[in-house]
Amino acid sequence: AEEDSALTLHEIHAGYDGAPVLHGVTLTVRRGEILALLGPNGAGKTTTCRVAAGLLTPRTGQVLMDGRDANRQTPVHRSREGVLLAPEGRGIFPALTIDENLTLHLPHRTDRDAVYERFPALAARRTVGAGSLSGGEQQLLALAPLLQRPPKVLIADEPSLGLAPRVVDEVFRLLTELRDAGTALLLVEEKAAEILGVADRVAYLAQGRVSWCGPRAEVEADRLTEAYLGID
Ligand code: ATP
Repeated sequence: AEEDSALTLHEIHAGYDGAPVLHGVTLTVRRGEILALLGPNGAGKTTTCRVAAGLLTPRTGQVLMDGRDANRQTPVHRSREGVLLAPEGRGIFPALTIDENLTLHLPHRTDRDAVYERFPALAARRTVGAGSLSGGEQQLLALAPLLQRPPKVLIADEPSLGLAPRVVDEVFRLLTELRDAGTALLLVEEKAAEILGVADRVAYLAQGRVSWCGPRAEVEADRLTEAYLGID
């Protein structure tokens, strides 16, 4: 229902100098759900994330947070209100230790201990430079603090990009836990098969418009082909 909407984009037209990309995108992410945004390269998925996070001002259309107009709110405003853009890939300080990186987000020891309990691989190396972690471990380190204080909305643009399959499962599990804690997740993914395992609803973006949106159970296999290969 609309009253559950944590983030709504309404009839968004947006793009770059002389290059319109979004031609009336409308979508809603509800509290406690993962909305997967799928679509072929260049469809405008990243542009949609930028508009939602406030990094790109739409030419026309509205961004609503908790049903309130957020069009004029800067990315910093939005993150204070709990609408976060997930750090892409890294988002950590490689020269600082794991514990120092966590301390930036979680000043209280008890919160960090909870992270270590949940992610033993981080605990074992807490005094080690974060730059020595694998890409996947760095992604987990960047996202783990969110579990201690789940944001209202998390916008994640390909959080699994370039990660080994095993750690992708871990990243998706973490995102599912955030969802279960009430976060509304807008999740852009190229890995369609994996994402269908965790998404509650799916929106297909094609040529700057949402061409289909519905519950995961209603996704037909041939739509994936359509979305990814641009054929029908
Ligand atoms: P991909 O999976 O390839 O990242 P996408 O669906 O995320 O695709 P966008 O990154 O939103 O698509 O890009 C949509 C269109 O906007 C593309 O044609 C792209 O070339 C163009 N574009 C993206 N960023 C810019 C920019 N900063 N300046 C100009 N054009 C841009």
